[in-house]
Amino acid sequence: MNELFDGPLPPEPLATCSACAKLPKPGEPPPADAYHPDTKCCTYLPMLHNFLVGALLADPDPAFATGRATVEARIDSGEGMTPLGLYATQEYLSRYDAGARFGKDLSLRCPHYLHDEGGRCGVWRHRESTCSTWFCFYDRGEAGKEFWRDGVAPMLRAAELSLAAHCAHALGADEINFGRWEGQPRELYRAAAELVVELTWAEVAALAGSEVQKLARVSRERLAALRR
Ligand code: SF4
Ligand code: SF4
Repeated sequence: MNELFDGPLPPEPLATCSACAKLPKPGEPPPADAYHPDTKCCTYLPMLHNFLVGALLADPDPAFATGRATVEARIDSGEGMTPLGLYATQEYLSRYDAGARFGKDLSLRCPHYLHDEGGRCGVWRHRESTCSTWFCFYDRGEAGKEFWRDGVAPMLRAAELSLAAHCAHALGADEINFGRWEGQPRELYRAAAELVVELTWAEVAALAGSEVQKLARVSRERLAALRR
């Protein structure tokens, strides 16, 4: 992002995640749009792309030990596991689409949400684009929403999907088949992380193609509007 955008991004201080801004205030009746204190906004199953899983598995930081275990559990279960990464299961998506209550439904809580550690994210450094661009409030209102939600989020989502496919194909796998990595998903994911970690934004944009390049231009324009 430092390469794509000129200077630091404006912070979003109203999304105070450690002391979540969407929880009911003590002693006050909960507003209708308040979130559940045991989920906050994490009623979501992230797409952990192959290179993100590999980076997390290789991350030696002890702060990620519990989070890493939640990712290992997803790999061990095999549910939603593909050469592209750990994706949502059809069963989860069906429940999500069937009128789940965002921020309130405990049954949809993210498996990487560390409830016993104050509700922090277990994969934070390696979380995907939806999570890393999500804010419940924008400091500059519509200008912030148009930058993050309608600019950066779709740009990064498209770039991530392109990179995941690029890694799988470069490693001799495809969207479904692990190829020579059959039975060794962790090794494929680690190899994917090594393919991605040194890429510059220019290389990512070139690999991802015209849609991401267009969204990058849109995001830069919206950042200029946000700064104004
Ligand atoms: S972004 Fe999520 S965790 Fe952070 S303050 Fe908003 S609802 Fe709470
Ligand atoms: S990956 Fe982290 S930020 Fe995203 S939904 Fe799960 S706990 Fe929340």
